[in-house]
Amino acid sequence: MQIPAAFDYVRADSVDHALQLLAEHGPEARVIAGGHSLLPMMKLRLANPEWLIDINDLSELDHITEDGDTLRVGALTRHVSLLESDAVAGHFPLVRDAETTIADPLVRNRGTIGGSLCQADPAEDLSTVCHVLRAELVIRGPNGERTVPMRELHRGPYETSVEQNEILTEIRWPIRPRSSSAYTKVERRVGDWATAAAGASVTMGADGQIEDVTIGLTAVGLDGSTATRSQDALRGQRPSEELYAEAGRLAAEDCNPVADQRGTEAYKRHLADELTRRVLRTAIERVTAGASPAGQGITASAEPRS
Ligand SMILES: Cc1cc2nc3c(=O)[nH]c(=O)nc-3n(C[C@H](O)[C@H](O)[C@H](O)COP(=O)(O)OP(=O)(O)OC[C@H]3O[C@@H](n4cnc5c(N)ncnc54)[C@H](O)[C@@H]3O)c2cc1C
Repeated sequence: MQIPAAFDYVRADSVDHALQLLAEHGPEARVIAGGHSLLPMMKLRLANPEWLIDINDLSELDHITEDGDTLRVGALTRHVSLLESDAVAGHFPLVRDAETTIADPLVRNRGTIGGSLCQADPAEDLSTVCHVLRAELVIRGPNGERTVPMRELHRGPYETSVEQNEILTEIRWPIRPRSSSAYTKVERRVGDWATAAAGASVTMGADGQIEDVTIGLTAVGLDGSTATRSQDALRGQRPSEELYAEAGRLAAEDCNPVADQRGTEAYKRHLADELTRRVLRTAIERVTAGASPAGQGITASAEPRS
């Protein structure tokens, strides 16, 4: 049986209280949200915090709120809330696409978007979603609040720019007119991490050309900042199968897969190509249809959280 090293545990009752506890206990303290990434790492002794600061009582961090041209999502929002939110699916159908493939109901009932982003696992689906949506992240620390773009959140695998004495509090997704998105994933079995996955967000111009596009690939090392050749090939062009094929070919060339038990490098490049084509096709069809996959053209406002 795997047992974590001994630790102390305290429940924060506000963000300020959590920050105070992090400052008090220093580098040996870690925030715990859903615990679905941190606890397995503690059992394997890959993480050995002496203090766990539990933030699960901070309902102020559990919300999905439409605020003008931004959808604000609290860092403690659970996977299941993102999966079930019609406001999220209406504006950003790729979130529901991704959430249907993440783990299983047990993990989705507890795991949070903040924990997912702060874990910074290269196979993590919501990181790609946030890259594709060009999310802004709100981080609070002892000196107040700062906002960073998603491309600056991850410094590398399992390493983020959220400092030890800070907490990620909110994720902001810009709502763009004439836009839609899609996400698709290949996994060895239901609930597994991605062998490879792709997400795309597309904004169409009034003239039927692709005005703007962001592509991200999960588990094969390509995000909105590095898929530049695919994105450049698409901008200003009319959608066609030939164009999707060109963008897929470039994404397959530019990604950085590593061979492992999930597949060879060649297989993963093949997936990068094919999945890029599929998400572009679906996202553009969705803009044209003006609706999410469930046919929900939604303009919802703030949703109460239970
Ligand atoms: C069996 C299994 C299968 C899974 N499959 C997938 C999958 O297919 N795709 C996928 O994307 N994910 C998958 N996951 C991961 C899942 O999405 C987790 O919920 C997620 O990675 C972490 O969220 P959490 O809230 O549990 O974070 P925790 O485990 O509580 O924390 C993770 C890390 O983030 C830090 N942290 C948490 N919240 C904050 C915050 N607000 N501010 C600062 N730091 C914070 C913690 O200190 C810790 O370092 C799987 C997990 C399991 C157990």
